[in-house]
Amino acid sequence: NTFAEIDLGDALNLNIRRCKYVKPTPVQRYAIPISLAGRDLMACAQTGSGKTAAFAFPLLPVTSESEVEIAAFDLQIHEEARKFSYQTGVKVVVAYGGAPINQQLRELERGVDILVATPGRLVDLLERAKVSLQMIRYLALDEADRMLDMGFEPQIRKIVEQMDMPPRGERQTLLFSATFPKEIQRLASDFLSNYIFLAV
Ligand code: AMP
Repeated sequence: NTFAEIDLGDALNLNIRRCKYVKPTPVQRYAIPISLAGRDLMACAQTGSGKTAAFAFPLLPVTSESEVEIAAFDLQIHEEARKFSYQTGVKVVVAYGGAPINQQLRELERGVDILVATPGRLVDLLERAKVSLQMIRYLALDEADRMLDMGFEPQIRKIVEQMDMPPRGERQTLLFSATFPKEIQRLASDFLSNYIFLAV
């Protein structure tokens, strides 16, 4: 029931202590081992449950050897990813709409391990051929219900379609949503394979 019991590596464990996280929240306790085991996950969790760390922590010990990205919604994710990636060697870039695209492009050109992006801006980058998603090993879609409410389903489907184009390797996918209506169930069955369902 402590972070030290989950093998997250020295750099991340140090950051966790620096940030004064004493023990994992329930969603973290279950989701982090599932993710580390390489399984797809459908998690029903509210904002405030600690879900951001639940999908970001498993990436930080491994990204130095495999290319990974996150497509998600909230800027808080970026802050969290940046805080916890400190001295792990993992490069986090954020690309969200409503901000000038040029600086985001320059950062992307310098290389990226984890990309935190909003759906609209990510589609924009894809159309400009500035990012390629075929090598993505890890996709976390956060606040899926909110993204659908905001009308982003076509963008999300387009992003996943790009990831599914050959040559594609193994991809692990995590879907987070506060609620689990029909539309989210459909996304889960379209995007996830042999997934574990978690509700906290
Ligand atoms: P989230 O549900 O990801 O939006 O996180 C809610 C808030 O809880 C954020 O401010 C996090 O920094 C904080 N938090 C997440 N996990 C923990 C933890 N294990 N211990 C203490 N605070 C945490």
